[in-house]
Amino acid sequence: MIAERLKEIRMELPPDVKLVAVSKFKPVEDILEAYEAGQRAFAESRPQELAAKAEVLPNDIEWHFIGHLQTNKIKLILPYVNLIQSVDSIHLLEELDRQASVLDRTVDCLLEVHISGEESKQGFAPSEIAQVVEECRRFRHINIKGFMGMASLSGDENLIHSEFKALRQLADRFGNAGLGIVSMGMTSDYRIAVQEGTNLVRIGTAIFGNRI
Ligand SMILES: *Cc1c(COP(=O)(O)O)cnc(C)c1O
Repeated sequence: MIAERLKEIRMELPPDVKLVAVSKFKPVEDILEAYEAGQRAFAESRPQELAAKAEVLPNDIEWHFIGHLQTNKIKLILPYVNLIQSVDSIHLLEELDRQASVLDRTVDCLLEVHISGEESKQGFAPSEIAQVVEECRRFRHINIKGFMGMASLSGDENLIHSEFKALRQLADRFGNAGLGIVSMGMTSDYRIAVQEGTNLVRIGTAIFGNRI
């Protein structure tokens, strides 16, 4: 079942769009089933859960973190994580840089951009991004690889189109600086994100079914 759903989604996605399977709340058996079907990139939203799964699953899995990250949880995921997609404050960047330097590694990150009008969403305001990118140059152990955004959860397709378009345009301003990843699109809106030029989609429900 998981393998079939994965195959269908992959066939639908343009070849240059990376598929990250969002496995939060799902058991390792489900992840293994996707792994056997060739999927290698998985995303989790809780530090403890990412660490526990990474411990027992194959080493060539690429782990993404997509949840809100508190600084006291950085050390849990740093040994395993390949890309932290949900960086939403300078304070978090400072602490990531410090802890990565202790481990003598660099950590790849995306800046989460608040693209929906919704109050509760995390992330930097689009108007802050230029300054944040500039400030990141002092972090020797962090590579900013691009941007992540979540559209409004409303069913208003025009609104979702315009939010993704805005993120794509923002990202294009920094494409030359090596910030090429534009992570946008999940189960409910990845088709719209593809039309607006995403190059990384984060899909959970459409692969693994509903989370309980
Ligand atoms: C849970 C989650 C997803 C996946 O959502 P689905 O609707 O299950 O595809 C994508 N991105 C983020 C940031 C998430 O928290």
